[in-house]
Amino acid sequence: MARAESGKPRPGRRADAMKEQSPPVPDCAGPCQPGPSACTGMPDARIAYRLHIRGQVQGVGFRPYVYRLASSYRLGGYVCNTPQGVQIEVEGPASAVAAFRQALGRELPPAARIAAIEAEPIAAVGRQTFLIHPSTGVGSLVTRVPHDTALCQGCRQEITDPSDRRHRYPFTTCTHCGPRYSIVEQMPYDRGNTTMGRFSMCPACAREFHDPADRRFHAQTNACDACGPRLALWDKNGRILASGEEALSAAVTLLRRGRILAVKGLGGFQLLVRADDFGAVSELRRRKKRPSKPLAVMVPDRTWAEHLAYLSACERRTLESPENPIVLVQRRPGVEAYVCNTVAPRLDTLGLFLPTTPLHALLLHSLACPIVATSGNRSEEPLARDENEALIRLGQIADAFLVHDRPIVRRLDDSIVRVMAGQPVVLRLARGYAPLPLYSLEVEGTEGILACGGHQKAAVALTSASQAVLLQHIGDLDHPDTRLVYRETIRDALALFGGTVQRTVCDLHPDYYSTRWAKEQSCPVWTVQHHQAHALACLAEHGALERPALAFTWDGTGLGTDGHLWGGECLRVHGRHMQRIASLRPLPLPGGEAAIRRPPRIAWAALVSLGDHIADADNVRWQRRLGLDPSEAAVLTNMIRAGLQTVWTTSVGRLFDAVAALLVPVREVSYEGEAALWLEALAADDTDERYEMPLVAVDRDGQVEDGPLWQADWRPALRALLADLDRGEDVARLAARFHNTLVAWAVSIAQRCPVGLVVLSGGCFQNRRLTEKVVAALRALDREVLSHERVPPNDGGLAAGQLAYALVRHRKAT
Ligand code: ZN
Ligand code: ZN
Ligand code: FE
Repeated sequence: MARAESGKPRPGRRADAMKEQSPPVPDCAGPCQPGPSACTGMPDARIAYRLHIRGQVQGVGFRPYVYRLASSYRLGGYVCNTPQGVQIEVEGPASAVAAFRQALGRELPPAARIAAIEAEPIAAVGRQTFLIHPSTGVGSLVTRVPHDTALCQGCRQEITDPSDRRHRYPFTTCTHCGPRYSIVEQMPYDRGNTTMGRFSMCPACAREFHDPADRRFHAQTNACDACGPRLALWDKNGRILASGEEALSAAVTLLRRGRILAVKGLGGFQLLVRADDFGAVSELRRRKKRPSKPLAVMVPDRTWAEHLAYLSACERRTLESPENPIVLVQRRPGVEAYVCNTVAPRLDTLGLFLPTTPLHALLLHSLACPIVATSGNRSEEPLARDENEALIRLGQIADAFLVHDRPIVRRLDDSIVRVMAGQPVVLRLARGYAPLPLYSLEVEGTEGILACGGHQKAAVALTSASQAVLLQHIGDLDHPDTRLVYRETIRDALALFGGTVQRTVCDLHPDYYSTRWAKEQSCPVWTVQHHQAHALACLAEHGALERPALAFTWDGTGLGTDGHLWGGECLRVHGRHMQRIASLRPLPLPGGEAAIRRPPRIAWAALVSLGDHIADADNVRWQRRLGLDPSEAAVLTNMIRAGLQTVWTTSVGRLFDAVAALLVPVREVSYEGEAALWLEALAADDTDERYEMPLVAVDRDGQVEDGPLWQADWRPALRALLADLDRGEDVARLAARFHNTLVAWAVSIAQRCPVGLVVLSGGCFQNRRLTEKVVAALRALDREVLSHERVPPNDGGLAAGQLAYALVRHRKAT
């Protein structure tokens, strides 16, 4: 996301840029231009070339594009998909072939990207026409798997035009839009390899498919009402209530009446309900067992988004991008009439997105109001993928099911993006972004490395013969069904990208399900410390793995190399080497990780650590504020003082919890980071004041050669904050001061550690205020700052860091 100086060249991107242009046609010394192989002595002899193109070239309208280009130069030959990408043979006059090669890549279809072009001269055999050949299916898979893409403008116009033959057809797609990764069973991406293979095109669709002048020329998902997928509305028992157009209008009626509708979207089921209906939204929360986690809102169009929220240019672009993520934006005041407050309780943000598919667009067009559109699952369970699963998982939640007969191959939740420091940052990598190619990782000779990720927000990453990819968000691995999906995702990824697991890489924490799974495989395993993996994920994303860096990795918790729970770490990272140079003073967690659900307990533990009389049993002032009864407070105090069932953590996330519990009356949280989100929402804008958090040099068990470990003592800051509360100061100012305190800490560490490159990673950097302030402060010190863009800063990005670690270590070993 943020960079110290945006004008400076970016190492990762620079490498990409070089890779992504087509190799220049070599200069020719002779009289004919261009290219030595064109140099036959005759100015326009017939020549032929075979080109191998790698990159995002399947499912994006690339072959039709090549066809049109080749035809415009009157070249003969063919284009076809291969497991490695696209192969082209062109034949014609030397000048025309050269012009074709130079034009190739200049005006690509919107979603296409060329990673590399290899060219070899072949014999000209007199071909006059250019064809699109069927795909070849041999060789290992190199090409990038195409991403699912939201409804494009062209298709949107057609479905709303009464004179168009696709008017109101909910599965309208073209070469630029529609399902891809979610429906592809195996590569290469061809209709026969997707779940569209079961629908044979009607004559009208087939004509479009074969007509080079048509925008559906070779659109693999091409379909219409006569030949394509059909809609149906089911009741909770799977009985058909209506089909086709009637199903659509009946679904609209149900939603208008405040009913909960399960809809089969692109990558799985979603639950829809009117966003303005307090009763309906509350009922959805109750049935879904999701008391307070914010719900995403789908709006009919951009005007609605502008009406509900303040949008920056970048947020607008992200909202309208083909990836179609949920974008976290600043809510405008007074929008309760359209989006009731229970949608995102206590927060000043809303997660908005535009209609993903024609089906969504038609529903929203009829409703003409925002709707809640949230993942089709119960609490911690995985997303429902097919109709049977939906009836079982969502039978107690939804009043009806809007389904269709195009199967979904893999579950893809909606992605979430937040714009921070002027850059979109992916917080949940799923539909539209997954699988994410990790361009900067050199994978040669490392096939079959599987990085297993963390435990929460689990995702895996792997290397195939020629690429490294980070796969889609799976979820938290507590629920047995989510663990099932975790294993399913790994199996699926190996089948799709080819290869077997030769080595696993996992977190240091032995109790993570992903770690246990990694160690059960019959292959060698490497473990990587959690925060090191966070830092490497960010470095890898920017192609800066080789450079030494100072990493601020602030998150919930992760197991440290000393056996304690870390989470407020300042690390010096270089390749596979990591040195901890600073952290927070440890904070007690009475009752261990269970305390995480109850921030007042963490706050109380922090007060006990002050060692004053604040936490004495008869001192009820702070107990009241935290909503703790005296007996509970006494038990906690005793646990901490005696060290019973108490773990210690250096987590910034937990310090956020403690401060949030003191400033906001929060009793219990239902999702990770909830209290921190409230604190961010609460913080006032207009202050640079902060608290003192002195650095104390701590001995590291006699390991003097590493220098001291600098611990930030948060106790003076907490005392000052309590005094401010006593004085009745505005809590919004105190919340802002707390954020500023952490920023100042980062600055003081950076000043002691003269490393030019700084990376920011970990779940705390989903906090926009914190991220933007830390970036600005370090920039002011003239440091180059890297933070996350596509790879999530939270544990969803861990696997990318683990994979980077393995590649660095592998390279050193060979
Ligand atoms: Zn389209
Ligand atoms: Zn058709
Ligand atoms: Fe983490």
